[in-house]
Amino acid sequence: MTCPICDKDTNPAYRPFCSRHCADVDLGKWLNESYAIPAEPADPSEAVQNPQSPDPTTRH
Ligand SMILES: [Zn+2]
Repeated sequence: MTCPICDKDTNPAYRPFCSRHCADVDLGKWLNESYAIPAEPADPSEAVQNPQSPDPTTRH
């Protein structure tokens, strides 16, 4: 088996990677992807406007 990042021989201590560096690289890829998803709908101006129009006291 080879490292999915750099195709070197796998180190059993860092399976399935060859080194801690490649394990970190793979982890960073996953973190970047999960960060990219919620970045779009988070609109600060919308979050401030929303609670103003429907009044929680009149809406039961
Ligand atoms: Zn590697």
